[in-house]
Amino acid sequence: MATDIMQLDITRIEESRINSVDWDNLPFGRVFSDHMLVMDYENGAWQKPSIQPFADLSLTPATSVLHYGQTIFEGMKAYRNEDDEVFLFRADQNARRFNASAERMCMPTVPEDVFIDFIKTLVDIDREWIPAKEGYSMYIRPFMIATDPYVGIRPSATYKFMIFTCPVGAYYTEPVKVKIEIDYTRAAHGGTGAAKAGGNYAASLYPAKLAQEQGYQQLIWTDAKEHKYIEEAGTMNVVFQIGDTIVTPKSSDTILDGITRKSVMDIARDWGYQTEERKVSVQEIIEAAENGELKDVFGAGTAATIAPIKTIHFEGKDYNLPETSEREFSNKVLDYLNQYKHGKVDDKFNWILKF
Ligand SMILES: *Cc1c(COP(=O)(O)O)cnc(C)c1O
Repeated sequence: MATDIMQLDITRIEESRINSVDWDNLPFGRVFSDHMLVMDYENGAWQKPSIQPFADLSLTPATSVLHYGQTIFEGMKAYRNEDDEVFLFRADQNARRFNASAERMCMPTVPEDVFIDFIKTLVDIDREWIPAKEGYSMYIRPFMIATDPYVGIRPSATYKFMIFTCPVGAYYTEPVKVKIEIDYTRAAHGGTGAAKAGGNYAASLYPAKLAQEQGYQQLIWTDAKEHKYIEEAGTMNVVFQIGDTIVTPKSSDTILDGITRKSVMDIARDWGYQTEERKVSVQEIIEAAENGELKDVFGAGTAATIAPIKTIHFEGKDYNLPETSEREFSNKVLDYLNQYKHGKVDDKFNWILKF
């Protein structure tokens, strides 16, 4: 790879904003650390990357991403312990997925080792911004946008790759009520559902808003063709415990291959649970809820790790699930993952990058 790409220009902020942060009241995604990383793609190659003070961008109104949405992102976290050690969790998986998204959206890829080095360097520069408190972390947002000043539909010839970070508090989610969606669709076979591409999220807002008006905080998406099979829960993957078996829809081109879900399944297998990654029908979930076999249901994703679901709505009926305090698997796996990400348990799966 071009050697230029590894020569980071670093311009440090003159005066850190860190003392203006209300650390006891950190809203998710609204507080930004001092620095950001920027790398432009021009003339068929990545140009010299730099780390600079976090600042606004200046773009022509004709910038192609603003019109046609050629944009992708990743979401990951860094953790810090009391000994000032910093941990990244399965960052290689984010690097790989970022490039898979890039290919689907006709965008250039970033070599995986470079992607990880960038993250390590940026996080290290702002390591004081990672709250060393139980459950707290630094959210990391790598993304890429198409920057051609051209109002025509074609893959852009120029791009901007950036990373910025946000200190975030413990993300406690109240158990949510969800509605099984059988009209609207998040992703269809052949579409972009497996990519973290901006348009997927824009398209999901309206159906989610309708569900919220009916009292459901989130949707369970079903397949676009028959609306018979469960895909995801909002912008998280979904995991069920039916009897003693941990079940999740198999990833496909309509289901985002989530790292949290993958880790939960690996841990479940390691703990001796029966696990199944396959098509999961709405019918079977409703039947399991009716006969008391549905022990646990939760969303899995980086922001919340585990988001318990307390009620599932389907065809005019609410199915209530066991109290979260009675759920063995999700409580155990959440606790273990939290400890794992903070380096407090043996890294038996080789998931941690420490620096
Ligand atoms: C990011 C994302 C997830 C969760 O992936 P993680 O790697 O676990 O954070 C699930 N579904 C969608 C649609 C997503 O965008």
